[in-house]
Amino acid sequence: MSQQKSTHQKLTELATNYWWSWQPEVTSLFRAIDPERWSQLNHNPVMLLAEYPPEKLEERLTTQVLHSSIHWAYRRWQEYMESRETWGMTNAAILGQRPAAYFSAEFGLHESLPIYSGGLGVLAGDHLKSASDLGIPLVAVGLFYHEGYFSQQIDIEGWQRETYTEVSDKRIPMEPALGPDGKQCVIHVDTRSGKIYARVWKVNVGRIILHLLDTNIPENKDEDRHLTARLYGGDHRTRIRQEIMLGIGGVRALTALGYQPSVIHMNEGHSAFAPLEMIKMRMKEDGIPFDEALRETASMGVFTTHTPVPAGHDRFDAGLIDEHVGPLADELGLNRDAMMGLGRVDPQNHGESFCMTVLAFRLSRRANAVSSLHGVVSRRMWTGLWPWRSEEEMPIGHITNGVHVPTWLAQQMRVLYDRVLPQHWYLRTGEPDVWAGIEQITSGELWETHTSLKNRLLIYARGKLAQQARRRGESEQRAHDLSNALDPRVLTIGFARRFAPYKRADLVLRDLDMILKLINDVDRPVQFIFAGKAHPADQPGKQLIQRVYRVSQQPEFKNRVVVLEDYDINLARHLVQGVDVWLNNPRRPLEASGTSGQKVVLNGGLNCSILDGWWAEAYDGLNGFAIGNGRTHVNTDVQDERDMKSLYEVLKNEVIPIYYRHDADGLPQEWIQRMRRAIRTLGWRFNADRMVMDYVRNTYIPAAGGLSCHFSVQP
Ligand SMILES: *Cc1c(COP(=O)(O)O)cnc(C)c1O
Repeated sequence: MSQQKSTHQKLTELATNYWWSWQPEVTSLFRAIDPERWSQLNHNPVMLLAEYPPEKLEERLTTQVLHSSIHWAYRRWQEYMESRETWGMTNAAILGQRPAAYFSAEFGLHESLPIYSGGLGVLAGDHLKSASDLGIPLVAVGLFYHEGYFSQQIDIEGWQRETYTEVSDKRIPMEPALGPDGKQCVIHVDTRSGKIYARVWKVNVGRIILHLLDTNIPENKDEDRHLTARLYGGDHRTRIRQEIMLGIGGVRALTALGYQPSVIHMNEGHSAFAPLEMIKMRMKEDGIPFDEALRETASMGVFTTHTPVPAGHDRFDAGLIDEHVGPLADELGLNRDAMMGLGRVDPQNHGESFCMTVLAFRLSRRANAVSSLHGVVSRRMWTGLWPWRSEEEMPIGHITNGVHVPTWLAQQMRVLYDRVLPQHWYLRTGEPDVWAGIEQITSGELWETHTSLKNRLLIYARGKLAQQARRRGESEQRAHDLSNALDPRVLTIGFARRFAPYKRADLVLRDLDMILKLINDVDRPVQFIFAGKAHPADQPGKQLIQRVYRVSQQPEFKNRVVVLEDYDINLARHLVQGVDVWLNNPRRPLEASGTSGQKVVLNGGLNCSILDGWWAEAYDGLNGFAIGNGRTHVNTDVQDERDMKSLYEVLKNEVIPIYYRHDADGLPQEWIQRMRRAIRTLGWRFNADRMVMDYVRNTYIPAAGGLSCHFSVQP
């Protein structure tokens, strides 16, 4: 049957399922068709193929000898989609009839679909990919932002400029989700000021379908057509309207498409209205009162909290709640005060606004933080919700975040893994034994592979720097000069993440004399690559970018401290695959987990991090480097000062000497030993397969009413 399909048809089908994005061979196929356009089009195969009518494509495929690779890729994809021998088939059969529904305001699947801003979205994307690989029955719901999140440029003053470009729904791999009538599914949500409509799209992520709601349709008033234009754009009113669409609209879309989920997983509180809509359905269908429907719905609820700072949680005032949730509250038989009570730590406290996190906790029996330390912090933070319980008895556990190995592992590293790990290791990444073989990789081959990936990063970075300089109107001489920036022999430290003040991007630059000495050391120099966006409304975050940028422009730092614009999944992939050291210095304990350092581990880079988030439970003394000893101070100035000193100490006393201590063959043996140890001790724990298996065993199966493994709170 598949043999009858033309190569063009097969390629088109492959292009419409993001499975290709975590198959390096299939990715290379698309690139081989037209390398230049491929990178200009942001690695979007649908757009690439749109430029190639069948004859022209045929010609390219023939000259590049791609036919047999396409047939092979297509066959592998079919096998993947049809395979019944998955972990999920054995371990999550209970979800077979009624899947888990996963809600998130953002999904970071790939650079070609810019509906993510950072860690939360990339985590959700990795969750879907692992759920697909493991064969977990799961459907996902999000919003389609047709202007996405912004692209970042940094101007000559170092100030961040945001631009939004419209992503046409025809140019990304989405298709209409069809209702029973064969037409694109359209749902609506009621507010006191009118209905808001949304159509539903489908994005294929391997075996998982991600449904995206999109309000940009003629049924809506102008204001509402733009409602889902931008991720995290707009004010409180935009925010709550997006959130009723995600939660209430999301449940309605799933229902209209014939799904009857047995688990509601809320990735952060944005989607916490979803269970309310489910409660309403229960009351109608079963004729039961609100309290009983709430109890039953909450038993299906799984809530993952990500934010360890009170200010990071969405809060709405009574007016906004009544306007947007009033009609639903009426159907639930709740008056305004009872409705507000659901979102208050103390329901009787009329001074309290409505908090989405509180609602999510109330409507889900299972809640988790995203690292062990974050679990402690979250339990402490929310004691007010369960005042009669001690801190240890609080119903908040933790499942530490992990990353999707095939997405983040460089192809050259995978070749090494294939040689020393058991066959089909990538189907069993959650098992420690599988990773034991890492010790067999010889120092020479590991170092050579790392060096080649580092070179790839530096070449990419230079190209980007020269481009940035030309755009800013710097002299041609300067742009040319930049193409020699970053020396491959120099210890290269990467720092890339959201520029939020608590992440302290400038910490390492606070003592410029000190850092200048390190950078210009004749025998053992270091260089830094920075990247990251600040939220458009975050002025202190933008000032941080400016500070780092200005240092990078000073003559004595040029070519040794560089800032790359527009951090996205593509830039992240280059960075995590090529740096020697990944620096992370948040103000403990504000980093709930962090995941970028986990991507670095897989590729042989070493973490140098504050003992916060995942690193607090990962560091064993030899699998990377720790900044400080985990102590905190109530005064942030004191803590910053202390952490800065610890950072310089670990760089001077450990990182730099170990990196430059070579044996007779020119290999830094002790460093390479740490690389191997990092992969072996961390790879199996901090990957998304292990994470999704934990969610399934500890939350989805009990929530779906299966044999309940006790979800213990691990202190
Ligand atoms: C992995 C990733 C993140 C998350 O990194 P943190 O370590 O959690 O800060 C953010 N943005 C992109 C593009 C990523 O790939």
